[in-house]
Amino acid sequence: CGIVGYTGGENCIEVLMEGLGHLEYRGYDSAGVALQGPEGVERVRSVGPLASLAERVAERNGHLSKLKVGIGHTRWATHGRPSELNAHPHTGREGSVAVVHNGIIENYAELRDGLRERGSTFASETDTEVVAHLIEEYTAAGLSLEEAVREVMPRLVGSFGLAAVSEREPGVIVAARRQSPLVVGFGEGENFLASAVQALLGRTRSFVAVENDEVVVLTSRSVSITTLDGAPVEREPFEVDWDA
Ligand code: GLU
Repeated sequence: CGIVGYTGGENCIEVLMEGLGHLEYRGYDSAGVALQGPEGVERVRSVGPLASLAERVAERNGHLSKLKVGIGHTRWATHGRPSELNAHPHTGREGSVAVVHNGIIENYAELRDGLRERGSTFASETDTEVVAHLIEEYTAAGLSLEEAVREVMPRLVGSFGLAAVSEREPGVIVAARRQSPLVVGFGEGENFLASAVQALLGRTRSFVAVENDEVVVLTSRSVSITTLDGAPVEREPFEVDWDA
């Protein structure tokens, strides 16, 4: 339902929680975050209001507040009941890639069958988890996270806005979308991602909309948007002067 991403020098968890807070109006049944840490991708998830997620985050004794890159999600369940196991972010087989997703992957059952045959077992009942497993198959085989997302996109049928981080690529967030909104927010030495500008108005006023079948790669210093076949997209940022 709601997506937020941050890469920069600030306290990432704060930016993610603030952004998710601004997306609460859309409704959700659970929420979660994944941050890149020294020991890999660290996930915190919770059923219920963001306040429950905030409690889980606080239980980590401030450790998460040292981390600078991550993605967050508020979930409105479509596939699998509201539960902590079904809350996003989802990870692949090795837990090295984390993915958040808005929308529906219509062919998830068939993709899941293929993954099972290749040895995947699934922790959730969601359509989203197959995307994490597919992306991780490619990164484990040596592809970059961007290349992996590019390979997976044509295999997905349905509507999605998605964002992914990998423990193999510190500082990098890769996102893509089809029939589900996604914007990039520009900062100084930091960049943002969200499913709606409202999430980020406290942090930036400069945005670019991501269009269908485009792939975005964010670092603290760069934003690249390309089409599925790799052609660079040049799009003027727009400024938002209203408040949510
Ligand atoms: N289909 C996904 C799920 O049920 C994402 C739902 C959403 O957009 O929040 O987990």
